[in-house]
Amino acid sequence: MSSDRVINFGAGPSALPEDVLLEAGSGLLNFQNTGIGIAEISHRSKEFSAYLASVESEIRQQLDVPPTHHILFLQGGGTAQFSAVVLNMLARHKLLHPDIPDADRTLDYVITGSWSKAAAAEAVRLANGATVNIAVDARTLSADGKSFDRIPPHNTYKFSADPALIYYCENETVSGTQFSSDAQSPTSFPFDLLPTNKLLPLVADYSSSFMSRPIPRLADHAIIYAGAQKNLGPAGLTIAIVRQDCIVDVDAAAKLGATPVPIGLAYKPFVDQKSMPNTPSVFAIYVTGLVLQRNKKLGGLKYYEEVNGRKQQKVYTVVQEGAEKGILRPFVQPGSGSWMNIVFEVIGEGAEKRFLEGAEARGLKGLKGHRSVGGIRVSLYNAITEEQTDKLVEYIREFIAQEKP
Ligand code: PLP
Repeated sequence: MSSDRVINFGAGPSALPEDVLLEAGSGLLNFQNTGIGIAEISHRSKEFSAYLASVESEIRQQLDVPPTHHILFLQGGGTAQFSAVVLNMLARHKLLHPDIPDADRTLDYVITGSWSKAAAAEAVRLANGATVNIAVDARTLSADGKSFDRIPPHNTYKFSADPALIYYCENETVSGTQFSSDAQSPTSFPFDLLPTNKLLPLVADYSSSFMSRPIPRLADHAIIYAGAQKNLGPAGLTIAIVRQDCIVDVDAAAKLGATPVPIGLAYKPFVDQKSMPNTPSVFAIYVTGLVLQRNKKLGGLKYYEEVNGRKQQKVYTVVQEGAEKGILRPFVQPGSGSWMNIVFEVIGEGAEKRFLEGAEARGLKGLKGHRSVGGIRVSLYNAITEEQTDKLVEYIREFIAQEKP
C-alpha cells in the first residue's frame, strides 16, 4: 500500500484494500483479457460464469462451508433478507407441518441491537398469523432499560419448542455488541439451549462480521447471510449460505395457504439457476472475488482472526485508559464488545467535536457514531490494517493526554 489516502473507519460502505481497488479499475476496462469491462460484459458469458463459480469456491474453502449448504449471490441487502428468511422459512414450516394452524407457528427473535430489532419488526409484518416470540431483548437487561449495551447471559433466553425460525444478528453494527466466538464465554450464542434432534431453523445476520473470523457452528445454521459492503466489496451484493432443507418449493407452500413469495426473494430459483435467475450484481461480485483472492494469499480466516483480534484489543485498551481518566466512556459492557465496531463517548462539553476535528486533521475519518446512538464508532473491518489501527490508537492516547478530566 502506498498511500496518502485518508484512513476510513466508517461503518459501511467501508474501506477496501487499495491494491484491490487498483486492480478493479483495470477490470472495469478489460475483464480477464476479454477486451470488455466487468460492468459491460454479459453475466451469461463463459468468463463471468467461471468467475462466479470461483468466487463461490473461495467462500466455501475459506469459511469451510459443508456440502449440505448452498452459497447464493443475491441483491437487496440485509434488508431484503429480513423479509426473505421469514417467507422461505414459513413456507418450509408449512410444507413440513401442513396441519398445524398458522396461529400455532412461532418465529423466535433474539434482539441485541437495532438490526435484529428491525428484522423482528419485518417478521411481524409478514407473520401471516404466526407469533413472533422475542426470545430475549437485551435492552431489558441494561441499567436504563433502553440501551443495547450487552449480550444477554444464557439464562435469560426463552426459545419456543418448534419454531419456524430462530433469528439472531451476530454483530450489531450500530451499538457495537457481538456474540463471542469462544463457546465457553458467557456472551457466546446459546447453541446448547436450542431445540435438539432436528435440523435447526437457525438464521444469522453476519452482515458486519462475515469473513472476519470463523463462524461458530456454521453447519448447524439453516441460513447465514451478509451484505458485502463491510468486509468484502461494494454494496449491491448479498451472500446467503442456505442449507439444502431450506430450499423449498414456495409455490407448493402457497397452495397450502402460506404467503406467496416474490420471485426475487425465493431461494430455490437462485439454487436452480446458479444465482442467475436474473442479472446478478456483476461488479460487486468481481470486487468480492478480488478481495477473497487477496485474503487467501494472506492466510485466510486464520490470518484475519489473529489480526482482527489484536486490532480490537488495542482499541479497547486505549478506550479503557481514557475511561480510567474520566475522558472516555465505553458504550458496551465488558465481554460484549464487537471486534468490528467499537462505540464510545467522549465526555464533556465540546469534547466530541474536538476529538473528531483532531482525527480529521490527521486523516482519520468516518469516526462519528450512528445518529441513533451518538458518540464515536470505530469500525475495524478487514481492510483496516494493524498499522492504521495503531495510528488511531496513538491519536486517542494523545487526545486523552491533552484533555483535562
Ligand atoms: N444487518 C446489519 C448487521 C447491518 O449492519 C446492516 C446495514 O448496515 C443491515 C443488516 C442492513 O443492510 P442493508 O443496508 O444492506 O439492507
